[in-house]
Amino acid sequence: MRVHELAKSLKLTSAELLAKLKALKIPATSASSTLDADAINRLRKALAASAAAAKKKAAQAKAQSAKKPLAKSALPAKAAAPAPAKAAAAPEAPRPSAARPAPAVAAPPRPAPAARPAASSAAVATLAAPKPKPEKPAAAPPKAKPAPPPAVEPVATPAAPVAPKPLELRFPISVKDLAAQMDVKVSDLIKYLLQQKIFASAVQMLNEEAATEAATAFNCEVLPQPTLEEQLIKAAEPDPAKSVPRAPVVTFMGHVDHGKTSLLDAIRQAKVAEGEAGGITQHIGAYEVQLPKGRVAFLDTPGHEAFTALRARGANVTDVVVLVVAADDGVMPQTIEAINHAKAADVPIVVAINKIDKPDANPQKVKQQLSQYGLLGEDWGGKTIMVPVSAKSRQGIDDLLEMLLLEAELLELKADPTVPAQGTVIEAKQTKDRGPVATLLIQQGTLRLGETLLIGPLVGRVRAMASDRGQRLKEAGPAAPVEVLGLPEVPKAGDRFLVVADEKLARQVGERRQEQRQQQAVLHPKRVTLEELHQRIATGQLKELRLILKADVQGSLEAIAQSLENLDLEKAEVQFRILHMGVGDINESDVILAAASDAIVVGFHVGIDPKVQVLAAAEGVDVHIYQIIYELVGAIKAAIEGLLEPVIEETFLGRAEVRRIFQVGKVGLVAGCMVIKGSIRRDATVRLVRGRDRIYEGKMLNLKRVKDDAREVQEGFECGISLQEGPMLQTGDLIEAWELKKVARKLN
Ligand code: GDP
Repeated sequence: MRVHELAKSLKLTSAELLAKLKALKIPATSASSTLDADAINRLRKALAASAAAAKKKAAQAKAQSAKKPLAKSALPAKAAAPAPAKAAAAPEAPRPSAARPAPAVAAPPRPAPAARPAASSAAVATLAAPKPKPEKPAAAPPKAKPAPPPAVEPVATPAAPVAPKPLELRFPISVKDLAAQMDVKVSDLIKYLLQQKIFASAVQMLNEEAATEAATAFNCEVLPQPTLEEQLIKAAEPDPAKSVPRAPVVTFMGHVDHGKTSLLDAIRQAKVAEGEAGGITQHIGAYEVQLPKGRVAFLDTPGHEAFTALRARGANVTDVVVLVVAADDGVMPQTIEAINHAKAADVPIVVAINKIDKPDANPQKVKQQLSQYGLLGEDWGGKTIMVPVSAKSRQGIDDLLEMLLLEAELLELKADPTVPAQGTVIEAKQTKDRGPVATLLIQQGTLRLGETLLIGPLVGRVRAMASDRGQRLKEAGPAAPVEVLGLPEVPKAGDRFLVVADEKLARQVGERRQEQRQQQAVLHPKRVTLEELHQRIATGQLKELRLILKADVQGSLEAIAQSLENLDLEKAEVQFRILHMGVGDINESDVILAAASDAIVVGFHVGIDPKVQVLAAAEGVDVHIYQIIYELVGAIKAAIEGLLEPVIEETFLGRAEVRRIFQVGKVGLVAGCMVIKGSIRRDATVRLVRGRDRIYEGKMLNLKRVKDDAREVQEGFECGISLQEGPMLQTGDLIEAWELKKVARKLN
């Protein structure tokens, strides 16, 4: 069923329905998106549940309305569901909140009003004057219990012509301030409140519910309050106007033994020897050097695995990658991996052609080889900076540094030093004498001694801070790597940190994160499976199927890549992109890259080490190995097609005819039916056919054989059927039972 059809049957606009679907995380992007039975069912359940919750709330509010007329309480009680009482002017306009995964909507409907402090409930009660009319079916989580039918009483009034004015409020709020925010006269608001029997002056404080009710009456929309974490992050948001240029952060990559470590050391020693004397260099995971034209920060765990592992944890810290290629050895498998890891991360590459002191060095050959991977030096008509260097003789090192600054200049890197410091954990360890020690890369703001840090789920104080040269620091700004003492535990590399002024608040957020981590650990750490990709593609978050391709020989790789390119995917909205292609077994680097880039790994005639297999399982990365090329290509084609539309297998189970309608106690209307073909199963998807039209698809609420619940009723027997939702049944209607199975296409 399409979104607009369902919207019509629910008497909602397509936009309203899409908002609700989004809140339920049901993929649908437009009015013509197709919804399967499962999705429709989930939606109906959610609608029913929230309608029931709103009804209950309204009833409780009514029951309390006599008690206390004045909303004086300053309790910031959260509204559980969208307010039951809405102004006639804006009855059913979609609330932007429905589209956000914010607690106001995502939280299960709270049965709370009665349990809440009386003053707060009273406020709802007092303001419930515009009579709670048929509840607005609002989105609620699918796990909420379905309510008995007919729970949805769609309101016939169309959406209000004027969209409600969105308000971001903090509670409690004074009458005066609320009026100002809503752009109405204070006297008008007081008048309205009087009508609601709230005798309030301009300075009277209103709690959340009272203010929300009033706002709704004036056609305003109170946006859900951000979570504590969102508030913290927002408060620390950098201001572009206050941002100043910052140093680039550089990572070295390349094949093993091509000289990454030697170059990092050479740069460091040269600069430390030249520069500020007295420091003893310490390896803290990162360092910075001061050049005449600016600073550069280096991460000194070289290699693309480390780089991508940070990225897989959501930390993008590197601005420029230096690709080290030994001039005597040339481009090797890990060189290619490094290029592709950098490309997948969209980080510019500067090439250092190392070991030019060696007699057999051949920089021209290296350039020629690199050109095959899209890296063209300026002398080859390209834009990639390539610098010949020697870590041994230190030749070219200054050039390389200068080029890094040049490349960084193009990137216009900036940071705001005025916000609370924030950044990423580069390295962390437990020490015997100093406790947990972490190297932090500050990415925004200025970090000061004594400040409270929220790192992942941990909260600590900056007790001591030192540079990579062991110098004690009182403060450090953007792009500086610093070693910090004072944390309660060792944080994880890749964790984000943020300075929080309010330690108590930091602890609250930390605890919540801890809970989330534990839950995640129980579920899956992360999933990069086809099914998950499908979800993201369906919701428009992802436009391509990303592949990492490994084969036994170069010839196979080329043949596969060629066949994939020849695929007729013109009509498909989704394309594929090969992030990395290489000869050899599926390795750790492939899996990490897949995890960081939401890709799947496909192998042809290759193996996979059990250790790598374990990693793939832990990261939730899909790995598929084939022995026949056309099967591989066919599977990818099917996957791409499958990504557009999941296959739904429909099996007809049976048909019943509605012979009689009767009212049964609380259950409501029940259709007395005769099964005229096959069988009717309780768990089946029901399609209601009236004349030539199929007018409804959904689930049954009850299937009864005589008076007992039945799991299945066979042909030739009578049964009683009531539907969860949907239209009124009529005699002569046909009820068809179908089994609908959503089959995700798999790569095999
Ligand atoms: P990594 O594995 O990429 O970090 O490489 P290393 O920095 O460990 O270097 C591997 C080997 O190459 C070591 O024995 C270094 O001494 C040597 N090496 C590195 N850079 C140069 C260079 O510029 N010239 C020469 N001749 N040897 C180098």
